[in-house]
Amino acid sequence: MIQNTRIKLLNQKNVQNREFVLYWMQSSQRTYFNHALEYSIQISNKLNKFLKVCFVLNKNYPEAQNRHFLFMLEGLYEVQKELAQRKIQMTLEIGIPSKIIKKFSQKSCLVVTDRGYTKTINSWKKEVGIKIDCRLVQVETEAIVPIEEVSNKEEYGAYTIRPKIKKLLGNYLHPLNPSDIKKKDTTGNSFESLKKTKHIIDNLKSVSTLPRKDFFKGGSHAAKTELKRFLETKAKNYSLDKNNPSLDALSNMSPYLHFGQISPIEITLEVLKKEISDETKESYLEELIIRRELSFNFVFFNKSYDNFDCLPKWCKDTLMKHKKDKRNHIYSLEELELAKTHDPYWNAAQKEMIIKGKMHGYMRMYWGKKIIEWTKDPEVAFCNTLYLNNKYQLDGRDPNSYSGVAWCYGKHDRPWKERNIFGKIRYMNENGLRRKFDIETYVNKTEILYANLSFNKK
Ligand SMILES: Cc1cc2nc3c(=O)[nH]c(=O)nc-3n(C[C@H](O)[C@H](O)[C@H](O)COP(=O)(O)OP(=O)(O)OC[C@H]3O[C@@H](n4cnc5c(N)ncnc54)[C@H](O)[C@@H]3O)c2cc1C
Repeated sequence: MIQNTRIKLLNQKNVQNREFVLYWMQSSQRTYFNHALEYSIQISNKLNKFLKVCFVLNKNYPEAQNRHFLFMLEGLYEVQKELAQRKIQMTLEIGIPSKIIKKFSQKSCLVVTDRGYTKTINSWKKEVGIKIDCRLVQVETEAIVPIEEVSNKEEYGAYTIRPKIKKLLGNYLHPLNPSDIKKKDTTGNSFESLKKTKHIIDNLKSVSTLPRKDFFKGGSHAAKTELKRFLETKAKNYSLDKNNPSLDALSNMSPYLHFGQISPIEITLEVLKKEISDETKESYLEELIIRRELSFNFVFFNKSYDNFDCLPKWCKDTLMKHKKDKRNHIYSLEELELAKTHDPYWNAAQKEMIIKGKMHGYMRMYWGKKIIEWTKDPEVAFCNTLYLNNKYQLDGRDPNSYSGVAWCYGKHDRPWKERNIFGKIRYMNENGLRRKFDIETYVNKTEILYANLSFNKK
């Protein structure tokens, strides 16, 4: 079932009578639980046309590293194969989306696309909507509840958005059955595209500048394997263990969600089916649904989401008031990047991110807070945190990246007792880590991994 509220026209042009319907896949890189794909199939069947799926790889995507391209291409390789089995042609193109989609649109009745939230993706959509001469339709399949349905403004925090999402959740939390395409493509053209993808993957593997020991392999298949592992071995203790960085207790869904390789609806339905306590389900779904969709709300309504200006006035004021406070340690971006601080816990977190492409969720908070403490200017600190996050995390450049970093500066939080440097922003310190967890185990595990990496021995 595809709710009407998921569908939005991105231009006012007509549907043409041409060769095929084009699904411009960009944010939702999967074949199941993909409302944009299912909508494209339904429209193709109605118009009795072929469906062509096109993904455009932009080599200059801001902040993306080989690590990200590799993860993404592993997923797209699978997508092409699965679509070929469903007799739907898919092509992978390299270049500028507006040019490529315009070229394909000349043979398209209409163009369907999925929904992205960040500036780059939205600027592409805008340009394509203007340049093509047929209809451009966007289908929301990344948020469970379309954000405009939830609220018409930027929300203060989880406590304000939670009741709004919960009220609507029942309307949107439904399985999505795949339909068959009527006009089957049997040309096998996607073979060329598969070869191209394989070739780029091999090249990326050989020139990759960041370590990659397959901590996370890309693609929907790997996403489902990881989800199964979480549900079978970790989920029952999630609410107890989720903040403990010395344990492997998290679901690891964030890189897969970021590239649209798994649907949040699919994850939610699986979690709800599982025989675990209601409290545990609630705890996980609070993160997956409420916190994640709060991030979508944030980047949608706050045009400065990627810089210090995004913060509420009280956060900016309090940080600026304490800008000149004495700092015991100051580190440059380079020192931070190389994990060369006096703090072994922080260094371990930075190294974990470099090695695995994913830092533990609790350490992300500590890591972000310390950059504020060790940088002279909070505006520079904000910028450096985002830079490191988006360069190394596989799930970086996500709405969650921007809201996560902004949270360290008080966004979606409340004022606390005023103190040095942080002002009224929440503070975190290493005593908290020592008191709550076996933080030394986390450090030891990470240091061993780091020492064993070949890139580190050069
Ligand atoms: C400074 C900082 C930077 C962050 N950068 C990112 C980022 O680049 N990309 C990213 O996806 N998340 C980011 N987060 C949020 C969070 O830390 C990660 O989503 C989480 O650690 C991902 O691991 P997981 O999937 O194993 O989490 P789990 O605990 O298993 O959670 C399942 C899912 O819930 C969602 N979720 C969990 N915690 C949060 C949260 N605090 N806010 C919003 N959604 C959440 C994610 O989609 C996650 O995949 C950041 C947080 C902070 C404080």
